[in-house]
Amino acid sequence: MPRPIQALIHPDALARNLQRARAAAPDAKVWAIVKANAYGHGIERAYAGLQGADGFALLDIAEAERVRALGWRGPILLLEGCFEARDLEACSRLNLWHVVHTEQQIDWLATHKTTWPHRVFLKFNSGMNRLGFKRDAFRTAWMRLSGLTQVDEISLMTHFADADSDRGIVHQLAAFEEATDGLPGERSLSNSAATLRHAGDHPEVRADWVRPGIMVYGSAPDFPAHAPRHWGLLPGMTLRSEIIATQSLEAGDTVGYGSTFTAPHAMRIGVVACGYADGYPRHCGTGTPVLVDGVPTRLVGRVSMDMITVDLTPVEQAGRNAGIGADVTLWGQGPHGSLLPIDEVAMAANTVAYELMCALAPRVPVAVRDLWPQTP
Ligand SMILES: *Cc1c(COP(=O)(O)O)cnc(C)c1O
Repeated sequence: MPRPIQALIHPDALARNLQRARAAAPDAKVWAIVKANAYGHGIERAYAGLQGADGFALLDIAEAERVRALGWRGPILLLEGCFEARDLEACSRLNLWHVVHTEQQIDWLATHKTTWPHRVFLKFNSGMNRLGFKRDAFRTAWMRLSGLTQVDEISLMTHFADADSDRGIVHQLAAFEEATDGLPGERSLSNSAATLRHAGDHPEVRADWVRPGIMVYGSAPDFPAHAPRHWGLLPGMTLRSEIIATQSLEAGDTVGYGSTFTAPHAMRIGVVACGYADGYPRHCGTGTPVLVDGVPTRLVGRVSMDMITVDLTPVEQAGRNAGIGADVTLWGQGPHGSLLPIDEVAMAANTVAYELMCALAPRVPVAVRDLWPQTP
């Protein structure tokens, strides 16, 4: 038998979460963001839940080829555009729309030989200062692109830095409006946080396309201000394993490398087949939430490469299975109607759910399974 650890991908949850994005921006088209192998979920597995999107946005041509191989004939957008001139051939061959954010990308287009002109998304740097043209260069780039026979439609795009927090989007939205004033073309501005928090109030934030990523996978972009449940999001991924050993500690006994946890009194702990080599964050310390047979308990001691140790006290008190073979939920849906948002584990590791999803290790077997109906 293989190690009992397993990741479960829930296509029904992805479909539900996508619907949630649509409901937040009913008059907009929806890009499902599937970069980084669908945030670690696997493009092929996620596709089953995301086929209702209006398009797929990602970074790599290899990933775009995988989406085409699944039979998708609709829009695909390269969010960082081409990395070299030759990439334009793949864009022509696969009919990919691509972001233009540098002069060099326009130079490549100007010498590209293609039968079908390309659709491009011209990126405006409204304050994120990562990709895109500032105002004057943006208008110049637009003029250049509009003069190329290689280009047909030019869409306009920007990205928010603070849609999840207090600073908000108003300053960037104003810059975008000013820079794009009078220009034709579809517009796209909003990531998950902007879609959930700001799109309802501002039609210009919904615009023509929204670009939800993390919310589709069931994490709240503004956690801990809001939990996934607040936004009506369901977990797209469950990481589960089992207890493979137990230990009875006496008061004063310590656990694991560095002996960072000392038992304050006699207690039983469970050893779980899951460690940082599976993608579980090593920065999770004592107190990190975990479910054993659906009962909330906590990690104790350090995360090792292949194992973690958990406090079995609450599980025994609840009269649930606290022995070898007991079900352990690291994040996602647990048994008996239980749920552990990935955001809570990410917060315990001082990071975000994005990183945990993307860091799921190749050695973890992955299965596709719809969520269990929630029993009360
Ligand atoms: C990743 C990405 C998104 C999605 O962001 P989320 O916070 O995951 O919703 C949207 N737009 C661009 C340009 C991105 O790179």
